Amino acid sequence: ATGRDVAPARPRIGVMGGTFDPIHHGHLVAASEVAASYGLDEVVFVPTGRPTFKQDKTVTAAEHRYLMTVIATASNPRFTVSRVDIDRPGLTYTVDTLRDLRAERPDAELFFITGADAVAQILSWKDAHTLWSMAHFVAVNRPGHNLTIDGIPEGAVTTLEVPAMAISSTDCRRRAEAGQPVWYLVPDGVVQYIAKHGLYRGQSVGSSEDE
Ligand code: ATP
Ligand code: MG
Repeated sequence: ATGRDVAPARPRIGVMGGTFDPIHHGHLVAASEVAASYGLDEVVFVPTGRPTFKQDKTVTAAEHRYLMTVIATASNPRFTVSRVDIDRPGLTYTVDTLRDLRAERPDAELFFITGADAVAQILSWKDAHTLWSMAHFVAVNRPGHNLTIDGIPEGAVTTLEVPAMAISSTDCRRRAEAGQPVWYLVPDGVVQYIAKHGLYRGQSVGSSEDE
């Protein structure tokens, strides 16, 4: 080789955290759009363990949420699923998620993907001030939520308009409970998984934290 040494490009990895109870097409479109516009090599979906903001809610067993996430992402070669949050005991904090993923992929540049509603809570996250140095944050729009970001360092968060999908997991759970269809709101395999395991039946589905 004659040229100067060129440092190999660092892999660009998106991180999509969520309860995924169940995963739906809003999550998948958001991840896909961010991957395309930020040139990401991979998006890692990270189902939460015990979500900090949902301590008062009944959340489906982590293993069901994990498997639905695997089913929903299986057909996309750039999408993967991580168990770091569901295997860590205790509440899930984003700072721990990012720390664990960094330890697994020390060479990677991380992009944390989040919806407008979750960004609003960012400043209340554990160790919020250290998050900015661990990943770049990408906030996507979400119907019914305004992107209002104050008090965050310049450049730490960028916003991206994605095709608006008025889908929420809360609505999917309500539909499943009421015997209404969830076809086309969630991937086909997830529709079948919900039916096979009788998820969301006979539970009174409370409202989501952001309603
Ligand atoms: P729930 O209704 O139970 O709160 P949810 O639909 O909000 O579920 P989460 O698992 O809480 O789904 O969301 C994970 C991440 O995906 C969050 O950052 C959230 O803002 C984002 N997100 C969820 N739904 C959409 C959507 N339709 N469009 C864009 N982003 C979304
Ligand atoms: Mg939510």
